Amino acid sequence: MLALENLSIRMGDFALHADWQAPKGARIAIIGPSGAGKSTLLSLIGGFTAPDTGKVLWQSQDLTRLEPGARPITTLFQDQNLFPHLTIAQNLGLGISPNLRLTKADKERIEGALERTGLAGFGPRKPAQLSGGQQSRAALARALLRDKPVLLLDEPFAALGPALKAEMLGLVSDLADETGAVVLMVTHDPKDAQAFAPLTCLVAGGIAYAPQPTEALLRNPPPELAAYLG
Ligand code: ADP
Ligand code: MG
Repeated sequence: MLALENLSIRMGDFALHADWQAPKGARIAIIGPSGAGKSTLLSLIGGFTAPDTGKVLWQSQDLTRLEPGARPITTLFQDQNLFPHLTIAQNLGLGISPNLRLTKADKERIEGALERTGLAGFGPRKPAQLSGGQQSRAALARALLRDKPVLLLDEPFAALGPALKAEMLGLVSDLADETGAVVLMVTHDPKDAQAFAPLTCLVAGGIAYAPQPTEALLRNPPPELAAYLG
């Protein structure tokens, strides 16, 4: 279980508070107005921002003081952060070993992840030789190779067209089913939440609310969400 205990941060006149748990295997969409703090919430969980109060726990282990890389968490940002001077296979290798000392078994895992994301044969290419959609898949493949029990996605597929985005969401969904990972995904599209996440966390007015059933929330949205959905 991922637990946020009285987690809070204030930056100027922006503030955010969260106090809830996500059970193992939960898939949660994070939705809310621009600037409400969705990325900040992921950043607090992933360890890229330190909270003013409270804790982040995984299976009762306090992660709050750990560096991002020491947490059982992978974060996939909107800009994919593939290194342009490395090949796709090397970029994926970074998901396994930061110094790229890879065993034969590691290389086989990389080939497997490329196949799984529809990129078989693309290992030797540089990121610039891939389309935007292929780059997104490569970033996802790297995230999956890290094999962590918590996956944080910050609008990772926003730049893709609808068909490709649906395909990527399906892939994340299948893989989350297989590994039982907790997945938190920021999206601005309620259809993504409906398709992907049984639960949705609304971030608005300084609060990241406890995840609620997505269908009920969207059918009967509170005023902050209704205003955002239009
Ligand atoms: P969202 O992802 O929901 O659009 P963000 O989490 O990116 O919102 O931003 C929340 C608020 O925090 C915004 O008002 C933004 O301007 C502010 N903010 C983000 N990062 C910093 C920072 N390093 N210092 C001060 N304010 C910040
Ligand atoms: Mg954001």
